[in-house]
Amino acid sequence: MRPARALISVSDKTNIVEFAKELSRLGIEIISTGGTAKLLKGAGIPVREISELTGFPEIMEGRVKTLHPKVHGGILARRDKDEHLRAMKELEIEPIDLLVINLYPFKETVAKGADLEEIIENIDIGGPTMVRAAAKNYKFVAIVTDPADYDRVLKELKETGEISLKTRFYLARKAFNLTAHYDALIADYLYSIDEEGKPLACRELRSPLTVTFEKVQDLRYGENPHQRGAFYREVFVKEPCVTRARKLHGEKELSFNNIYDLDGALNLVLEFEPETEGVACAIIKHANPCGVALGKTPQEAYEKALKVDPISAFGGIIAFNAKVTKEAAELITERFYECIIAPEYDEEALEVLKRKKNLRVLTTDGLTGIEKRGADSPFDYRRVVGGLLVQDRDLVTVDPEKLKVVTDREPTEKEWKDLLFAFKVVKWVKSNSVVYAKDGVAVAIGVGQTSRVDSARCAAEKAQMVGIDLNGSVLASEAFFPFRDSVDEAAKVGVTAIIQPGGSIRDKEVIEAANEHGMAMVFTGIRHFRH
Ligand code: 5GP
Repeated sequence: MRPARALISVSDKTNIVEFAKELSRLGIEIISTGGTAKLLKGAGIPVREISELTGFPEIMEGRVKTLHPKVHGGILARRDKDEHLRAMKELEIEPIDLLVINLYPFKETVAKGADLEEIIENIDIGGPTMVRAAAKNYKFVAIVTDPADYDRVLKELKETGEISLKTRFYLARKAFNLTAHYDALIADYLYSIDEEGKPLACRELRSPLTVTFEKVQDLRYGENPHQRGAFYREVFVKEPCVTRARKLHGEKELSFNNIYDLDGALNLVLEFEPETEGVACAIIKHANPCGVALGKTPQEAYEKALKVDPISAFGGIIAFNAKVTKEAAELITERFYECIIAPEYDEEALEVLKRKKNLRVLTTDGLTGIEKRGADSPFDYRRVVGGLLVQDRDLVTVDPEKLKVVTDREPTEKEWKDLLFAFKVVKWVKSNSVVYAKDGVAVAIGVGQTSRVDSARCAAEKAQMVGIDLNGSVLASEAFFPFRDSVDEAAKVGVTAIIQPGGSIRDKEVIEAANEHGMAMVFTGIRHFRH
């Protein structure tokens, strides 16, 4: 296809002057809309105004500029059909062979916090209409929507005088990808607000699934080297999360597994308010914590978390819910970790961490934002072959008022503290999971066994191996005990109190076991399965 006439209408004016100049030099006539025409004319490029082509002025502050049969006939006409050619001739429709269009900056307008009126004005109508028309007619027309493609098109035009079918098809696919994404973004945004533009507390789960993702980057590979991988993020998310985190240091790119583990690590520490509950440190391996502790300082929290399972911690991911200090940084750099994520770093801490070439240091830019969690990203997605399971994220935390002590004995104040801590931690451990806790430290973590009692036993055995005394610890279970066996196991190692959802048909038997061992037991009524 040898283009004779181009229509240029762009919001993002990157490189458009250079591109249009070259097109004009190649003898292609240029038609353009208001702002674009002005810019090109200002650069000395001969331009015909769109209103001259249509014989109709641009009206309604630009809402209607190109929505005209002279434009759309010129784009959509099949050049191989007599009837189409006849219509063009009779109605004096001039063929438009090359379109250079990009759309009103809807996403950017939302992102800068504009009001609803301005956001609505930035819903492009004429642009996507032309883009779709041109992409549909790619057999005869070329549609360039990305400034990154200007060079490719120019090169071809200069070398061959034409834009090849291959390139036109490449451009058409890209064009439909753009308009599909653009409309999804609009729908996605509208589902996040009410009719007056006020943000909704939480998107409705039952709304049609219009959550839009954008690709952040391709990854070196997926979970394993033989799997391809890429990283996508939801578009309108402001809460602290790994997809928004900024890398401050670390030469190596984040891997698929790094990102997944960073997510787990950050979710876990964000359960804890630094001001009221203390500094939380979590060390994550393969999405499971192998050390979690609260401390008065990051250093204390880290030291306590590490002690639990220093072998597993090797090559792990560390997260904090508070500013990282130099003292903590120094201890961390004594060992090998893949990544660290925290809201902030002391300047000196950052200097220390930067000594490790491959340690990726990420920040949530000060965000701990516990109150905001889930507001813009309320869904959890699980892939199944051929589909997707969607659910609300598990953002429930226990309401201390609703906890029910079911045993003869009430937990002591110290036990209460550890019980609540342990129940928050166990939520982020793969099921079946139990967490033993003592003095704000997860002293043993039972990870992902197929039976609860195995989780209880494995964790206790591991603690013994490291020389950790579980005597006087408490135990949290993410789901109810189907039998009394786990309670008996816990008693053997000296657990004094247990927290669990309750709700088993054998609750009575389980409570009896606790009473027999002189334990306190609390029901939360909340289950935290994590598969
Ligand atoms: P300009 O800066 O040239 O005045 O406007 C360029 C933008 O207008 C492009 O992003 C293009 O997609 C958009 N556009 C082109 N025609 C129409 C139209 O008829 N209606 C609306 N709302 N936008 C249009």
